[in-house]
Amino acid sequence: MLERRHVEALLALDSHPSLRALVMEQEYRYEDSAQKQDEREREQAVRTLERIGEEEADRRAAAADELHDGPSPGDPYALEIQECPVCGYEAFSSDDGDELGMGVGFGECLVCHYRRTPAIANAIARQMEWQRRWERD
Ligand SMILES: [Zn+2]
Repeated sequence: MLERRHVEALLALDSHPSLRALVMEQEYRYEDSAQKQDEREREQAVRTLERIGEEEADRRAAAADELHDGPSPGDPYALEIQECPVCGYEAFSSDDGDELGMGVGFGECLVCHYRRTPAIANAIARQMEWQRRWERD
């Protein structure tokens, strides 16, 4: 049986500064490792781009639109193909979007094979949301 004193103890703990710092530290570490992985993904994608050359990149970009499953009657919320942040081609094929619904996709670029993880898509979306609020206020 959960009594009022238990709830009060929990609330007191929750507002305890050191505990809060601990939670933030944990979130920071999670995001930090996701960012590091993203950096490796980007480096790998740049190497792929160098290896395949401009002609092959153009060819892949031209084919990307057909390979990507965009919005359809069966899946109206699927994202359109997006510009890849690494190679700049309209070739980023999202599996799905960020949790805030900001339209930041996670998936893979069909030209340079840069892969964006859900954690990174969510981090970008949070930053966009934060910026939007900041500009509004
Ligand atoms: Zn790309």
